[in-house]
Amino acid sequence: MNLISSITELRAQIASWRQAKQRIALVPTMGNLHDGHISLVQHALTVADRVVVSIFVNPLQFGPTEDYQAYPRTLTEDNAKLQAAKTDLVFTPTVAEMYPTPMEQSTRVEVPNLNNILCGASRPGHFIGVATIVNKLFNLVQPDKAVFGEKDFQQLLIIKRMVADLNLPIDLIGQPTYREPDGLAMSSRNRYLTTEQRQLAPRLFQILDQLRRYLLTTGQRNFTELEDHAKAQLTASGFKPDYITVRVADTLALPTDHDNAQELVILAAAWLGKARLIDNVRIRF
Ligand code: AMP
Repeated sequence: MNLISSITELRAQIASWRQAKQRIALVPTMGNLHDGHISLVQHALTVADRVVVSIFVNPLQFGPTEDYQAYPRTLTEDNAKLQAAKTDLVFTPTVAEMYPTPMEQSTRVEVPNLNNILCGASRPGHFIGVATIVNKLFNLVQPDKAVFGEKDFQQLLIIKRMVADLNLPIDLIGQPTYREPDGLAMSSRNRYLTTEQRQLAPRLFQILDQLRRYLLTTGQRNFTELEDHAKAQLTASGFKPDYITVRVADTLALPTDHDNAQELVILAAAWLGKARLIDNVRIRF
């Protein structure tokens, strides 16, 4: 496995693979890898000849009061996992390498509307940071395929929109959320949970799944009422809910009351102690 932190070396390796007509897949991450990340790598191996994983805790996507400093950095363990998963190249640039112009003054990518709702409403600027760094990684690696997790559902839609709007020749692949045996979506931020909070955490998925089954089995479409009820359940379980909302899966628009034609998604974000957990479930009628 090739460990590279310089852009020059990365470009040289990519160029030689391109010359050999090899297909390249990229899996962008912030490290502290768990089995969910590895499931993306495993999928990438099935669709390309070479798999590049980037590990970069991107300061541009963290707000001033967020956990940029505290975000877990476990490069040695990450590399061992990626090596075992047969990754070809791990790209671990420094902040200076990725942001040669001071970050506040550098060019950024904004996907309007989608970036201001849900997680974007609570985390101003977050999705500008995400779109900018992913666009930069796409320019550096020039992958044929890029694999993302559906756990970050809004992020995946934003990247899809960016790829379409900027005519990037990249095939985006979303992969299902990888979960702990009790249903909790795997996340690097789960390690912020105390033992007691960790026991409560699966409630988030349970409440989402309960609402999903309710919508599927009853004709109920009073979304606001159902969302209020789910929010109250989260609060009663010890969470501080940010949002829980039913949306149209393709656009994140509010669904109409009797709309069974479109696929829906229920998305939630809630604080449990120091961890802001997010999760979602899809509804195909
Ligand atoms: P992160 O390191 O949190 O930025 O995530 C890197 C990639 O892994 C993103 O595409 C995430 O959506 C994806 N990911 C994170 N958690 C999971 C999970 N539990 N299952 C599948 N993919 C995930």
